[in-house]
Amino acid sequence: KSRRLVRKQRDIESSAALYPTDIPIAFEAGRGATLKDVDGNLYLDFFAGIGVLNVGHANPYVTEAATEQLETLPHSLDFPTEPRLELIETLDEIAPPGLRGNNRVNFGGPTGSDAVEATIKLAKYNTGNDGLIAFRGSFHGETSGAFSLTADTKYKKPYTPLLPEVQHARYPYPFREDRSDDELVELALEEVKELLGDRYGAMSNPAGVWVEPIQGEGGTVVPPNGFLQGLRDLCDDYDVPLIVDEVQTGMGRTGEWWGSNHYDVTPDIMPMAKALGSGLPLSGTMYSEELDTWEPGGHTGTFRGFNPAMRASVRSIEYIRHHDLLEHATKLGARIRDRLRELEATNPHVGDVRGKGLFIGVELVDEDGKPAPELLADVRTTCYENGVLVWAGGRDDNVVRLLPPLVMTEEQADTGISILIDAIETSTS
Ligand code: PMP
Repeated sequence: KSRRLVRKQRDIESSAALYPTDIPIAFEAGRGATLKDVDGNLYLDFFAGIGVLNVGHANPYVTEAATEQLETLPHSLDFPTEPRLELIETLDEIAPPGLRGNNRVNFGGPTGSDAVEATIKLAKYNTGNDGLIAFRGSFHGETSGAFSLTADTKYKKPYTPLLPEVQHARYPYPFREDRSDDELVELALEEVKELLGDRYGAMSNPAGVWVEPIQGEGGTVVPPNGFLQGLRDLCDDYDVPLIVDEVQTGMGRTGEWWGSNHYDVTPDIMPMAKALGSGLPLSGTMYSEELDTWEPGGHTGTFRGFNPAMRASVRSIEYIRHHDLLEHATKLGARIRDRLRELEATNPHVGDVRGKGLFIGVELVDEDGKPAPELLADVRTTCYENGVLVWAGGRDDNVVRLLPPLVMTEEQADTGISILIDAIETSTS
């Protein structure tokens, strides 16, 4: 049945949607950290819709509230509703410390790209500038503004030029560079400083600096301590907003509510999406109160606040708190990384194991230490044939990306990681 649906999709859907076809499965149902396909096969899900299902597939505590809301009032434009205001208040409780009690929230449409577009407009509007600074290896979305921030990929070229004033600085990538963490941080900050105009005036009109606290699509790249704080200091010195993109790292994924919490840094602007709606479409941007200069109607749209998704969002935050899922993610993530590091110690094709919480990357390399995308493709196929779904990413498509639901049990994780380890051993033997 799966094959039939995959073939049918190929026949009738846009070719742009056909990227997961190297995992030719059609899913029928999900529960917790498991998925079932249309043929009745069960899978352990280690990608959770790329970090969307943090409280698991079809979490009853979430769906109960969302369903009730769907039956009562799904859509109400930007008029106030209780679910809407309750979500803003709940987000305030878990906001990065410097934004707590000092923020505004703008809701977007369903995608992270929507939220990132809002951040671009907000930063430009507040500074009166149009220069955008982002990083190599970054991903911020695929609508025109967000795509401008996204680093060069083969998909971007046909659409350039996008926004004219975008520069990409170096992002510290410890595994790929033979330098100390301090040196990497210094080099990256130096480039940002040049762009901000100090030495060469490379960008005379910066509107902001956009950064992922840990790069996701770029290969789960964890920057050394000091990088985010250094950016915070530079943004303060040059009086431009720091925009920390929490679309993928947010909502508890890394064992803290937000990636920036790991570095004790408060962003000025923070786009959120993916797990925000717990599987229902919802994005939003939180920003500091002093940037709330938009006049009423200054940034609007028809679908900026889907009440069932807002109910789902509040419920998922409650669920994470009630079940101590941040702590669970921290412990389970460490356990998974420990096991994979044992493999790294004996298998030269495992170049690096990294991440925070349940945001984990395993970089695969060839015998010369170079990126090994074919190996990754092999491993991924062996995994799914044995009932484990992992994601792929990285600048060279050679990083196994693990983003299981935060509700995954230790037993499920152990089983899945054993299958992943076997797959790597088999593919490299
Ligand atoms: N920002 C980051 C950091 C992301 O990882 C993504 C999606 N992978 C986006 C923005 C864009 O989100 P969406 O795909 O929902 O538009």
